[in-house]
Amino acid sequence: MKNKIITKFNSGQFRKGKDHPNYGKTSAMKGKHHTEITKDKIREASLGRYHSEETKEKLRQSRIGKPLSKEHCKKLSIAHMGYKCTEEQKRKMSEAHKGHFTSLETRIKIGNANRGEKSGMYGRIKEKATNWQGGITSLHDQIRHLPESKEWRSKVYIRDSYICVECGQVGGKLQAHHIKPFSKLLREFLQEYNQFSPFEDKDTLVRLAIKWQPFWDIDNGITMCKKCHTKTESYLNKHYEI
Ligand SMILES: [Zn+2]
Repeated sequence: MKNKIITKFNSGQFRKGKDHPNYGKTSAMKGKHHTEITKDKIREASLGRYHSEETKEKLRQSRIGKPLSKEHCKKLSIAHMGYKCTEEQKRKMSEAHKGHFTSLETRIKIGNANRGEKSGMYGRIKEKATNWQGGITSLHDQIRHLPESKEWRSKVYIRDSYICVECGQVGGKLQAHHIKPFSKLLREFLQEYNQFSPFEDKDTLVRLAIKWQPFWDIDNGITMCKKCHTKTESYLNKHYEI
């Protein structure tokens, strides 16, 4: 008979696989569930105990590529309700997302998935959809203040040698006039991407605007002095102008 030395290793705590005393044995708990009282006890015993960094890493690795079940996701979502991220977490998330752009295809898919009844705008008619107009105005302002807008104006001035095409004034208070009004371009742009709301998806629309060539076509711009510009039809109609 072998000598049975009682050490903590007999418990199997530090043994793995075939060396573990319980290797090959079926757990007595298999197919059974702990009672609520037992669960509470287990929970209590684990309180204040943390996994080591190594264990955490192992757990993390073992979960990679494994999708969570719908039930699990739902539980997580309930558990996170009302939880607010700390500034530190927000900063980290923002760092992680920097330079990351969702592909147009994905954005369209998201847009389509949220259409109709699923949309936050569902059931709201335009007049009632508060912020709808405000959303467009604000989107217009954001596009107008993009560095791309400044670049567009500069290119128009340079092409026209800083001369007003109407009266020939050189320099002074010059403006770049849109031949096709900016408001019309914006309408066409919103029609093209009508799966996005100018209010709720403003950031997405701004990113799309950067890539939308009609906004940045210098053939649609002419240099005018402020005086001549104010006389244009679109200016008088209070159309949005850059
Ligand atoms: Zn002029």
